[in-house]
Amino acid sequence: MREVRRVVPAPADLGVELIGVPEGADLDLDLRLQSVSEGVLVSGTITGPVQGECGRCLREINDSMGVTIQELYAYEDSTTDATTDEDEVGRMQGDLIDLEPALRDALVLTLPTNPLCREDCPGLCPECGAHWDDLPADHSHQQIDPRWAGLSQMTVTEE
Ligand SMILES: [Zn+2]
Ligand SMILES: [Zn+2]
Repeated sequence: MREVRRVVPAPADLGVELIGVPEGADLDLDLRLQSVSEGVLVSGTITGPVQGECGRCLREINDSMGVTIQELYAYEDSTTDATTDEDEVGRMQGDLIDLEPALRDALVLTLPTNPLCREDCPGLCPECGAHWDDLPADHSHQQIDPRWAGLSQMTVTEE
């Protein structure tokens, strides 16, 4: 059994449409490689930064993610190699293990398809596109009928 701690640069296009790990960002690998009869069992966590866009207000999201992976990588020419498909069980390529497919699979399950800058993000006013957070509570685009405009001014002066 071997422990591997390493920082690697993130490959391109790691993530989903609206959120993902920026290319070249530091990915922290904290893995255990365990030799089993048919190959190597890789388990551990991969953590790194994620960047994206809020699905409601388009503000930038800067967050971090952590995924747990557990994958068996079969030795070339092992029974497992002969009896399973490559997309079921990973393969060692010589002494190398390509973690990228497993990491991609885990990330797609972890990252939200509709990321939010915060759980209760109110989004944008559909009329003017301003963020509801920046608008007064009574913000609206209701047109005041010109015939009533005088009346509303009267109400204001009365106060
Ligand atoms: Zn938002
Ligand atoms: Zn508005």
